[in-house]
Amino acid sequence: MTVGGGAFSSLKFSSLISWKSTGKLQQTVANCIERTGPALHSGKLSTVKIVPESARTGRYFVFRSNIVRASIDHAVKETPLCTTLSKDGYTIRTVEHLLSALEATGVDNCRIEIESCDPCDRSVEVPVFDGSAREWVEAVDQVGLKVAIDCGGNSCEKLAPFLNEPVHVRKNDSFIVAFPHSKVNITYGIDFPQAPAIGRQWFSSTLLDESFYSKQIASSRTFCIYEEVEHMRNSGLIKGGSTETAIICSATRGWLNPPLRYGDEACRHKVLDLIGDLSLFAKDGSQGLLVAHIVTYKGGHSLHTEFVRCLSGINKKDGT
Ligand SMILES: [Zn+2]
Repeated sequence: MTVGGGAFSSLKFSSLISWKSTGKLQQTVANCIERTGPALHSGKLSTVKIVPESARTGRYFVFRSNIVRASIDHAVKETPLCTTLSKDGYTIRTVEHLLSALEATGVDNCRIEIESCDPCDRSVEVPVFDGSAREWVEAVDQVGLKVAIDCGGNSCEKLAPFLNEPVHVRKNDSFIVAFPHSKVNITYGIDFPQAPAIGRQWFSSTLLDESFYSKQIASSRTFCIYEEVEHMRNSGLIKGGSTETAIICSATRGWLNPPLRYGDEACRHKVLDLIGDLSLFAKDGSQGLLVAHIVTYKGGHSLHTEFVRCLSGINKKDGT
């Protein structure tokens, strides 16, 4: 959701992060995955092909022969409704659900080839499917995973970023604060007083591992407020949006396309989005998801990616 005006603020500490072993080896998909579908914002068809890749390569997109790493270095700032990667004039939008699924299922290294149905496009968008990450988690499950091997024929230890000191970013009444912890815990709060059926919700994971993600997070769908949809369409967004690609809540009439998959599906979806955005911290086949207790309130993609920039030590005045 959109974050309002006002400057981000952040606290930075030296030695904020220590990269430590997860006790696991880096993985990749055992076989190729290919999926085609319409995009949420452009409404155009696009095809994604996920190809096995070597250890230490990480995750990267290939769009019209251009390589765009799934890294915070290429994340565009202030994209309220989706997370966008851009490099050398080529843009890949709505990457968060795919990256969330890859991060959570342990696809540490892969080549993601993406094509638009219009071969002249310089911008492409990952298909939305049902608005959740379920399609991608099931696709990874179908092909399976294998240990990734580097160019020397060796497997590689998978590292994860452990937080050493509390850190926060905030913008107006939205914030993300993280505390050092031995496991990944996420607590997320949302507040939509304009849509009482959503209202204020909190969701907390006690241990965010792959099994928890698959069962409790992956199937939660994107949501929108019905009365705000027209404004979004006029802004050229959600052209591919429908009752099949999102759960829609009216300010006065409640959820318009029930049933919900979970009573707190909207809040769970924000956790899904956060994991996708935090995955942009991954480097060289490591885990991107910060090992910490992360508490987020009224976050969105801009705040999520600002948090990753803070972890990365990227000056907020730098360009994208
Ligand atoms: Zn989302």
